Amino acid sequence: MSDSAVRVRFCPSPTGNPHVGMVRTALFNWAYAHHTGGTFVFRIEDTDSARDSEESYEALLGALEWLGLTWDEGPVVGGAYGPYRQSERMRDGLYAGVADQLLRAGFAYRCYCSPEELDERRERAMAEKRAPGYDGHCRALTALQVADYEAQGRKPVVRFRMPETDSTWDDLVRGPITFAADQVPDYVLVRANGEPLYTLVNPVDDALMRITHVLRGEDLLSSTPRQLALYGALAQIGVSDGTTPRFGHLPYVMGEGNRKLSKRDPESSLQWYRDEGYLPEALLNYLALLGWSMGEDREFFGKDEMAAAFTLDRVSPNPARFDLKKCTAINGDWIRALTPEDLAQRIIPFLVRAGAILDPPSESDLEVLTAAVPLIQERLETLGQAVGMVAFLLVPDDRFVRDAADVSAVLTADAQPVLAAAQAALAALDDWRAEHIERELRAALIEGLGLKPKVAFGPVRVAVTGRRISPPLFESLEILGKGRTLDRLATAGAS
Ligand code: GLU
Ligand code: ZN
Repeated sequence: MSDSAVRVRFCPSPTGNPHVGMVRTALFNWAYAHHTGGTFVFRIEDTDSARDSEESYEALLGALEWLGLTWDEGPVVGGAYGPYRQSERMRDGLYAGVADQLLRAGFAYRCYCSPEELDERRERAMAEKRAPGYDGHCRALTALQVADYEAQGRKPVVRFRMPETDSTWDDLVRGPITFAADQVPDYVLVRANGEPLYTLVNPVDDALMRITHVLRGEDLLSSTPRQLALYGALAQIGVSDGTTPRFGHLPYVMGEGNRKLSKRDPESSLQWYRDEGYLPEALLNYLALLGWSMGEDREFFGKDEMAAAFTLDRVSPNPARFDLKKCTAINGDWIRALTPEDLAQRIIPFLVRAGAILDPPSESDLEVLTAAVPLIQERLETLGQAVGMVAFLLVPDDRFVRDAADVSAVLTADAQPVLAAAQAALAALDDWRAEHIERELRAALIEGLGLKPKVAFGPVRVAVTGRRISPPLFESLEILGKGRTLDRLATAGAS
């Protein structure tokens, strides 16, 4: 019950395009908040003006909205711990103030070492097989040394003074983890130009926003000892309320060939899934499986079902393999689970983009689409595939084009008598329904001409739909209507 105090956060930096690894992190945090009745905080870590962009910020908001991962506190919706964009918090002088407090209390110190000096000492340490991290040179400068550096015009960075004790925590995913004190050198909180770094702003905001659980990628595991130490200091200077969040590091997501899925892999970009026509429900379903399992071999579930079942003991520490085929198969399952009306609505934007219908679609296009959707629902794996399957029913006749390769393979000289016979048989048919169309074509082509079904119907299919692969033929002809069917048989015969 007391778990309702859970506060988790998703805190991406707005650089580049949202990617699936990010979405996985957002989803797990969202699910944990929902499972525990806690709060899902969305924070934007945009203190690096050289790398962050407004466009990327907008894309992040759009991504969470598209996925339906609503946040309880954050940009747009606000909250008691705002603002939720670090750029705004920085403008308010918040981080500089905390850095000052840390300096005054002795938890941090000014380091005047130049990059060249640091490099030189690092190389020497490596040559002498000592730890290469910062050596503590400026930990205890005398007033005279400081005055001397200042007189030289050096601009100091602010460094955190790591305690001399080992760092230990009980990771929510990986169990007990220890870093020896000498593995974690003093680190920079504020650059010489006054810019606060991720190492400062992220834990400060977690503290100020009273975050209780940090669920994030394994790539950040090595920064946890530093953050835990900083938490200790923040409690002492009264920035935090004394609680240290629990940490859980989500497993790596691996791509092809046993390496981490990279931002550069096309299938890592969220936009790619939107463009191809993956359903947000399906993408979340698939990403849920990357490091978590519902048990009982259940692999098809919605995000609310996931949240109901989401406990951290079912998050695995082992790397998860990203399998696009499986993701696509799950998308097909989700497409089949939609009502035909819903599926039609979701296909419309793809048809508009392909120029097959207008925006908004006309009444008659909507009718055609509604009739066609049940024919393709079983075979679709992405919404984008629907365009190739139904466009022939929708494009105006003067823009109907047949696939060139299919035409040359199927609409050969041998096909001409088939088209002529089909045309004659269908011209005489009045009751234009699939079953009658089928009966007439079978009678004319299979019985009449003695053809095998493939040889008989292949030319009709390419003539009328433009492709060798199409929705079921007779139903398609019914939807297309008699006039357009006969026209297409005629123009294919003429070609
Ligand atoms: N802004 C950090 C990132 O995107 C957040 C890391 C964290 O969750 O602590 O990597
Ligand atoms: Zn120094």
